[in-house]
Amino acid sequence: MDLQANTFSLQDLRARAEGLGIIPPEVRLAVLGSPVTHSLSPAMHNAGLEALGESFRYAKIDCPPECLAEAVELARKANFLGLNLTIPHKFEALGLCTELDDTSRQLGAVNTLLFDGRRVVGFNTDGPGLVRAIREVFSIDLRDLRVMILGAGGGAGSAAVLQCALEKCPHLVLVNRTEAKARDLAKKASELLRSDRLEGPEDRVQVIPYTESALREQLARTDLVINATSMGMKSADPRLVPAQLLTPDLMVFDMIYRPPLTHLLEDAQNAGARTANGLSMLLHQGALSLEIWLNRPAPLDAMRSALAKLA
Ligand code: NAP
Repeated sequence: MDLQANTFSLQDLRARAEGLGIIPPEVRLAVLGSPVTHSLSPAMHNAGLEALGESFRYAKIDCPPECLAEAVELARKANFLGLNLTIPHKFEALGLCTELDDTSRQLGAVNTLLFDGRRVVGFNTDGPGLVRAIREVFSIDLRDLRVMILGAGGGAGSAAVLQCALEKCPHLVLVNRTEAKARDLAKKASELLRSDRLEGPEDRVQVIPYTESALREQLARTDLVINATSMGMKSADPRLVPAQLLTPDLMVFDMIYRPPLTHLLEDAQNAGARTANGLSMLLHQGALSLEIWLNRPAPLDAMRSALAKLA
């Protein structure tokens, strides 16, 4: 069965928990989401599992938000090793875990579950995946960078901001269409920075309005711009940052990987800036999840080439 092409339903998972139905018995990992059809995770993880010589396989299951608790319990009963969680389950899943790792507790979201008997352990590999991606694509550590996050209020943007705070980045600029969300997030980021005595945390986290003048002023003090909004997925989407504000000294990371070159990345490249799309983040968060489930290093090259064929 082509596990990249097929999306299973909650009904299929119910049948599997009874030892019936169409989900093959070797499937012992899955991503739960809604919508989840577009997910590239089965191709990436199955390439990794094959390269490791493991017999388990990874599937995608559409799970409506109100059914998450049931789906997690069904997967545990069906002898799954664990799960990935994507939109809209990452926050709700916190309450279903019997234990949380430090990162998921600090980021307030879970994207990976590990089943161990009756224990359901929650992890978050999105933030650490971003750290690894930045190191890989720009050969520099996130903790050394002054970062501007566009979309600092959405799910991915919140994880990025809080991970930057955990990394103790020297300066964080939060931008979000709905500014109130960025303000709430800034408080949490300041809390995480509070233990750091080098400088007052308030000085290091700034929320700015989505205006050209505010962006211009702050870009002059920014090393890395991260786009964590969904703007750029469609070619008709408006530009997030006016092209003339982008300069050659910037690094620009767009979490979007489809299309591989968004308007933001194209404008940044034209300005001479260094750029990368979100494929490396997808790869590294996936590799970290696989390491949690299997307790052995993930085969990055196999996973990367599976993604490259699809993205
Ligand atoms: P989300 O929770 O729905 O957040 C969407 C964000 O986009 C919010 O900050 C929202 O601002 C902003 N936004 C939406 N429409 C906008 C507009 N017209 N103008 C300006 N801002 C706008 O989604 P998400 O899960 O965080 O995902 C965001 C993006 O990151 C998606 O493209 C997703 O594919 C990508 N992503 C990539 C990876 C990876 O591994 N590469 C991982 C996770 C997510 P408001 O708060 O004002 O609504």
